Amino acid sequence: MNKNTKILIPEISGDWTERLRSGGTNIWNHALHGKPHRNGLPEVRLDPPETGLYAELIDGAWYWVSGCAKCNESGERWSYSVCDKHNVCRLCSTHRSKLTGTPWGHPDGFTCKPCQDAVDAIAKAEALARFAESEYDQHDFCSMDECKCPHCATGIHIEAEDYRDQNMKCDTCGGLFGLRIEYEPSFTTTVIGERVTA
Ligand SMILES: [Zn+2]
Ligand SMILES: [Zn+2]
Ligand SMILES: [Zn+2]
Repeated sequence: MNKNTKILIPEISGDWTERLRSGGTNIWNHALHGKPHRNGLPEVRLDPPETGLYAELIDGAWYWVSGCAKCNESGERWSYSVCDKHNVCRLCSTHRSKLTGTPWGHPDGFTCKPCQDAVDAIAKAEALARFAESEYDQHDFCSMDECKCPHCATGIHIEAEDYRDQNMKCDTCGGLFGLRIEYEPSFTTTVIGERVTA
């Protein structure tokens, strides 16, 4: 398939302008919670004739078109619907069906577990080497503008809703550390009783 792939879907009316997707399945007149669609028409579910195709309404008729960024040579990284051939690890090209561990999502598709482990090991070694060069001492990890791992000095973003004292594990080096949230005092005043005037 490629960006010119366009296969008419004769069983779907061009008047049905709404289409849902559930995995690779395309659904028209979606019945919600067992109730028929408000247009009263029966729900129709179709799987594309080939993985990577999805239904698109073009000039009043429905067609199967390619949603695979690599097949379409679109230059985009993310596929709307990846084809079977391109459903592979972005680094070692292992097919998704051959994976032994849970893959990691990536803008270019996915990274298989062994490749991600290798990437993580390199990031850890680099962070620890930088740390050794920088000659930090404990004071460098006090009253910081951002949370940094005291083992490897990697910055760790903390969402405001997670601002609380807690024990953490660094994603980069695996080191354990305690985080304490500190607040600068600020001052608010309100008049009690009558305002004093001149
Ligand atoms: Zn493809
Ligand atoms: Zn891989
Ligand atoms: Zn660390």
